[in-house]
Amino acid sequence: RVLCATGIVAGLIAFFWKDPFIPENLSGARVLLTGASAGIGEQMAYHYARFGAEIVLTARREAVLQKVRTLSTCLQCSTKTTPHSNSCSTSPVTGYHMDMSVPYVGGLDYLVLNHIGMTHFQMWTGDVEYTRWLMQVNFFSYVALTTAALPTLEKNRGSLVIVSSLTGKIPTPFTTSYSATKFALDGFFSSLRHELIMQKRNVSVTLCILGLIDTDTALQNTRGKVHISASPAPEAALAIIRGGATRVQEVFYPWWLQQVCCLWVLFPTNRGQVLRSYYNYSSP
Ligand code: NDP
Repeated sequence: RVLCATGIVAGLIAFFWKDPFIPENLSGARVLLTGASAGIGEQMAYHYARFGAEIVLTARREAVLQKVRTLSTCLQCSTKTTPHSNSCSTSPVTGYHMDMSVPYVGGLDYLVLNHIGMTHFQMWTGDVEYTRWLMQVNFFSYVALTTAALPTLEKNRGSLVIVSSLTGKIPTPFTTSYSATKFALDGFFSSLRHELIMQKRNVSVTLCILGLIDTDTALQNTRGKVHISASPAPEAALAIIRGGATRVQEVFYPWWLQQVCCLWVLFPTNRGQVLRSYYNYSSP
């Protein structure tokens, strides 16, 4: 009887629940996507292309970016690229970035910030300069690009989509600097979201919390060091796009990461020990 009742409830939910994500709404949407030459960014480019968005893709490696552009264009959409020769660690580059990109598409509906600088998955070595540099690439460039884009986004009731990580909610081993940059994103953009709402400025802010995803760089970095299986990049990319399009505040991918975050807060005792059991480390 319990099974039958559960089945009926599930059936009713499935019948009445309407998926708020309408892919057609992305047709013609103007998107600026950073870190689009590889990994999750590349997969987002293909999804946006399939949905008919007008995308501007950015990354440093022009040849690789062109390959992504060609594949996206095959999916029937107007794709443009603005490669930048420098790293996002220098702020003039981000200004240049926005100046070049917005006129390209005649406005902006989505700013999707996804790029990251080279990440070491290892014990803290004391390299303060590296942390400073990573903070520039992973955090300050996000702030600079957002500042430059906000007026245009506001005009179009647009969306800011920030790609973050579980390590931006829960500190994990081997990610000292990276985790710091992702916590910084949560602090800045969750505060900014409050302010935009208080000022009745219609720009949504979506923070995306991802677990381990099977991109080349992530798999290379974590090989032999973690007992966690990676989720597929195309699915992660779609979850981010859905979240941005439906203007939700936070996206968790895979979905159960939200429960993990709740458990982390609810059970402070021994949680660190459980977490560390997923990581491999033998003292020298
Ligand atoms: P990748 O390493 O596959 O891609 C990173 C992108 O950033 C590339 O397009 C790269 O292009 C660009 N990039 C690299 N260095 C710089 C730089 N100095 N300045 C500007 N752009 C740069 O990353 P993922 O796809 O794995 O990650 C994408 C996002 O997802 C990141 O925000 C990451 O934190 C998040 N995430 C990923 C997880 C994973 O397991 N993969 C887990 C949790 C979060 P180019 O070199 O051409 O510039």
